[in-house]
Amino acid sequence: MVSENNLSMPSDADLRRLIHFSAGDGRIWLAGNRMVLLHLGGLASLRKELIQAIGIEQTRRVLKRAGYESGVRDAALARQVRPNGNPFEQFAVGPQLHMLEGAVQVTPELCEFDLEAGTHHGIFRWDHSWEVETHVRDFGPQNDPVCWMLIGYASGYTSTFFGRQFVYRETQCAACGHDHCRIEGRALEEWPDGEQLMEDYRADSLLVRMEDLQADLESLRVSLSPSDDLGELIGRSKSFEKAIELLRKAAATQVTVLLTGETGVGKERFARTLHAMSPRADKPFVAINCAALPHELIESELFGAEKGAFTGAGAARPGRFERADGGTLFLDELGELPPSAQAKLLRVLQTGEVERLGATAVRKVDVRVVAATNVDLEAAVEAGRFRRDLMYRLNVYPIPIPPLRDRIEDIEPLANHMLHAFMALHNKRVAGISDRALDAMRNYAWPGNVRELENLIERGLIITTTGQMVDVDDLFAVAPPPPPVTLSESGELQQAMPADLDTLYDELQKRGLSLEALEDALIQQAVDRAGGNLSAAARALGLTRPQLSYRLQRTRER
Ligand SMILES: [Zn+2]
Repeated sequence: MVSENNLSMPSDADLRRLIHFSAGDGRIWLAGNRMVLLHLGGLASLRKELIQAIGIEQTRRVLKRAGYESGVRDAALARQVRPNGNPFEQFAVGPQLHMLEGAVQVTPELCEFDLEAGTHHGIFRWDHSWEVETHVRDFGPQNDPVCWMLIGYASGYTSTFFGRQFVYRETQCAACGHDHCRIEGRALEEWPDGEQLMEDYRADSLLVRMEDLQADLESLRVSLSPSDDLGELIGRSKSFEKAIELLRKAAATQVTVLLTGETGVGKERFARTLHAMSPRADKPFVAINCAALPHELIESELFGAEKGAFTGAGAARPGRFERADGGTLFLDELGELPPSAQAKLLRVLQTGEVERLGATAVRKVDVRVVAATNVDLEAAVEAGRFRRDLMYRLNVYPIPIPPLRDRIEDIEPLANHMLHAFMALHNKRVAGISDRALDAMRNYAWPGNVRELENLIERGLIITTTGQMVDVDDLFAVAPPPPPVTLSESGELQQAMPADLDTLYDELQKRGLSLEALEDALIQQAVDRAGGNLSAAARALGLTRPQLSYRLQRTRER
């Protein structure tokens, strides 16, 4: 058991540096999480109206859970920020952020850790709780504690910090006539009434329960796909909805469908969904990638071969057309089909009959063909690589699948869905995807589309430490530059360097700054941020320590 005797909080300079005011685009960041600077009066009005609308019990639960969510997010930061701190210094990130966020003043009175058992016992004093201030103003003195969001925060923070369930409770509250509030936290099972305390954190409304069921259902769908209407297709953007509408209309008919779109947009998923929505759903879905097979094999794969039809054809075997009988055949990368196979495919489409290689008779098949291509078939026809008559035959009902950059609002639901699927696959849990990471994803061009997003999410999950948020650095090798304004240690907003080259250049012109002056300012900034540690400052600037010393010397001589 480590009982920290020195309970004075460490400097919060490292935490202040995590706050970035980016007023130019209307955002404030705490590391990767977007924050909002609210008027206490506005928050008080929300709290009051909630109490009047749904009662004090329900409001307490709602606010506790809201506080809990904030605590979870801040805890994901704690070990990242102070990797080398002692247990108390690391844990203090929560109380210190709580203060920086303007929630309450926190004074530690007892803070014990048993790191081996992963447990903790803490007692903190709270002053200036915003909830006491507003609640007493609106409703007068109370018999029960009112710091609901705050206590939710403490519980969510501690539980996420230790990776097991902790509950903090108010042993006294200033709203009940005490001088200040006091809170005490223990692991759930160490409280005799722990289960009762946890009740407030359980999603208890019918609506929330239904949402949980929905989530369970979704995960079942992932493992059973394709079985339902939209299967793995996720989206709400206009361009996505439009493609889905075309897909639904085609599903009910027997029409041959041509899916077009860039590499990685998920054409096979659309094809599977079309099949699942069609009357052929209980019959086979067979896929073949025309680009993945050598030319000499593709015909026997598609149409089958009789015994001895060609060298290596030891036994007679049916082709994909026959195996898809009654169902759907998906021809991916159709543009890569060699000319002789094109001629045979055309014949099958015209007659509904397949002839195996080396066979003397034909077989009747009933197959709905769905083809996909990422090349412009029209251009391939012009270039003589694709038969015009086959193109006409296949291009009856084209469905363009939009690239990911045209469906920006789908990125978040897609990313979350993928994250959950990969968490199940890799048996690893992270806290979610940070707002900043989502923002970066929305601003990225996605040349590899949904497939690229999938790769990035899987990599992000693997890199991210268990329990933390997947942040922008975990997804993209190069993080975008930090927003331009930060909170200084003296509590003032300070102008940092503008974020991109254009604005940087404009700023230089506007201020009449020389390159030398900019260099001096940058060097000074690096030295200040490193707390005067020249080696660290040099690393941050990509210089060696002697190079930095030389430049500093020159700066001072100017
Ligand atoms: Zn209180």
